[in-house]
Amino acid sequence: SSRTLYRLLEDAATRYPNREALQFLGQGTTFRELLKRVRRFAKALQRSGVQQGDRVAIMLPNCPQFVVAFYGTLLAGAVVVNTSPLYTAAELEHQLSDSGSETLVILDSLYPRYAEVADKVPVKRVLVSRIQDELPFPKNLLFPIKALKEGTLASDSFKRNPRAVPMRFVTKLQDPDPVSVPITADDVALLQYTGGTTGVPKGAMLTHRNLVANAEQCRSWMVGLQEGREITMAAIPFFHVYGMTVAMNLSMLIGATLVLVPNARDIKMVLDEISRTRATIFPGVPTLYNAINNHPDTAAHDLTTIRACISGSAPLMQDTARTFREITQGANLVEGYGLTETSPVTHVNPITGEQKEGSIGLPLPGVDALIMDDAGQPVPTGEVGELWVAGPMVMKGYWNMPDETAKVLREYAGKTWLLTGDMATMDEQGFFRIVDRKKELIIAGGHNIYPREVEEVLTSHPAVLEAAAVGLPDPYRGETVHAVVALKPGMQATEKEIIAYCRTLLSAYKAPRSVEFRDELPKTAVGKTLRRQLAAEARERLK
Ligand code: ATP
Repeated sequence: SSRTLYRLLEDAATRYPNREALQFLGQGTTFRELLKRVRRFAKALQRSGVQQGDRVAIMLPNCPQFVVAFYGTLLAGAVVVNTSPLYTAAELEHQLSDSGSETLVILDSLYPRYAEVADKVPVKRVLVSRIQDELPFPKNLLFPIKALKEGTLASDSFKRNPRAVPMRFVTKLQDPDPVSVPITADDVALLQYTGGTTGVPKGAMLTHRNLVANAEQCRSWMVGLQEGREITMAAIPFFHVYGMTVAMNLSMLIGATLVLVPNARDIKMVLDEISRTRATIFPGVPTLYNAINNHPDTAAHDLTTIRACISGSAPLMQDTARTFREITQGANLVEGYGLTETSPVTHVNPITGEQKEGSIGLPLPGVDALIMDDAGQPVPTGEVGELWVAGPMVMKGYWNMPDETAKVLREYAGKTWLLTGDMATMDEQGFFRIVDRKKELIIAGGHNIYPREVEEVLTSHPAVLEAAAVGLPDPYRGETVHAVVALKPGMQATEKEIIAYCRTLLSAYKAPRSVEFRDELPKTAVGKTLRRQLAAEARERLK
């Protein structure tokens, strides 16, 4: 398809003008109304001097303003820079400077974080969306409740700053017709920074073609889908590529209503909204399904309308999937896989027919996938190698990082391949399995240990909620396995018991030598366990 991403919304508004595009805290917005606001926003950006190709950073949680700012920026011909509301001031500074964003769209309660770095970044204009500009926000948001209720903390600091413009003024402008900008499907639509799980985030340049292609590829997975009738529970954040494509863009493509939840950690609200709106599609991440499985309010909610769920971004433990299917009375919760550089989804298990537990499934239509050795040659079926992928969803490259780009994009057999950095296998039927990240391999006494295998065993222990395995330096073996474990509420286990349990299921060299207990494991914004941080903290303690 050579549609631009904005056209997905425009087409939905043509086909389903009166259907609700958004549901937020009990208030609906139709596709027609959404389109109108998006056009006004685009016009306002243009009036304030935003030009084709300029970068516009959006720092908002899931809320109507996010959707308006996102498609409005694209319509104005500018490039969206998705910016996590969870970023620290230092991370924000890096991303705004690296991307060269001259415009920032931000929630007022986040404004103080920007104010800390305002003098060090290229931002020239700030559109501040105040809580009261659109709809009230829920109490339990990602941000300090004090700032939300009083609305003053932020408002005061942005009043003093001449660069800040409240979004309300912007959206009330008279002339709703933006100037049409000659963008093509091959222009960059988005700078999406990688999750930073293994290192410094890099800005992946994703084009309109990449993003539309991936939404279409995901649609083809949804056998039995009813266009114009589905309801998507959008709890996973749009500022991450996974929620942006699988919840937001896919819903525009199929005319589904987006139910916006600004904080995926507010499980009570996720549950309430699913049963209130009778949501049918619920993309998520393993930690989210796990949290629902273990939440005291779950039993009192009707979750049986949910039919299709992709779980991505991290391995789905089998126990999590099984329990979730029981709770929803048979929702198809299937594991998929992808990465920022591929817009993101490349693999998913079939929604009907054969699924393989522990597998990421089959490549989506239009995705080519290979398992390659270090010399760049295919390995025999069933053997472990690095996963390479090709197709219309593969990024153009990393923003301003030609050397990093050259490391991951490679020509082979007439196609451009992305080297995923993940070790994987493919079986006789073409199902793929992720073994682990190449970078997080633990090497003990010359043996390769994939942390994930150890984590599968740890989480199979009845008292264990979540677990991470990391390598610690060891004078004799090079590294040893250290486990960090969070127990289920009300459950108990000792270090000795956990180690003994692992020994019964793993060869001795793979079993952890030490176990540390925590209430919760540190995670990235999409719920990926930060093994890097856990390893650094454990190493620090050894010193
Ligand atoms: P960085 O690249 O900055 O270290 P990141 O790897 O978290 O951060 P993302 O692009 O958000 O950046 O995540 C992609 C990675 O997530 C994949 O390369 C893979 O390691 C992991 N992943 C995604 N889905 C799955 C899955 N189903 N099973 C195992 N791992 C997965």
